[in-house]
Amino acid sequence: MSCIFCKIISGESSSKILFRDDLVTAFRDIHPIASTHILIVTNRHIDSVNELEPEDESLVGHMVMVAKELAKQEGLAERGYRLIINTGAHAGQTVFHLHLHLIGGRLARFVA
Ligand code: 5GP
Ligand code: ZN
Repeated sequence: MSCIFCKIISGESSSKILFRDDLVTAFRDIHPIASTHILIVTNRHIDSVNELEPEDESLVGHMVMVAKELAKQEGLAERGYRLIINTGAHAGQTVFHLHLHLIGGRLARFVA
């Protein structure tokens, strides 16, 4: 198993876990681009949005709901935040394990 996010989820690679349930795990991005930069990752390895099946619809909805709760905890709810899923190389996806970026607060650098 070479996937870095699978290793974090399994505990083989250490990372402080902010949230975990049956479906997703959340931890801070190792290279944050803003004062809050959290990754909400599916517990099951799915390469990207391209590999999602119709039965994954509620999983994707759950990722957004978890992001919403974490945004509230981080004090971002009022001023706003971005939720981003990069899909494929041309979108800048570098880790091919489905994840949602929660980005908010002071931006370290601009992202489109
Ligand atoms: P992508 O570019 O695929 O949308 O996002 C992958 C993100 O994972 C990047 O923002 C990158 O900084 C982050 N990342 C890569 N390796 C690790 C790691 O080992 N630990 C954590 N916490 N984040 C990582
Ligand atoms: Zn994985």
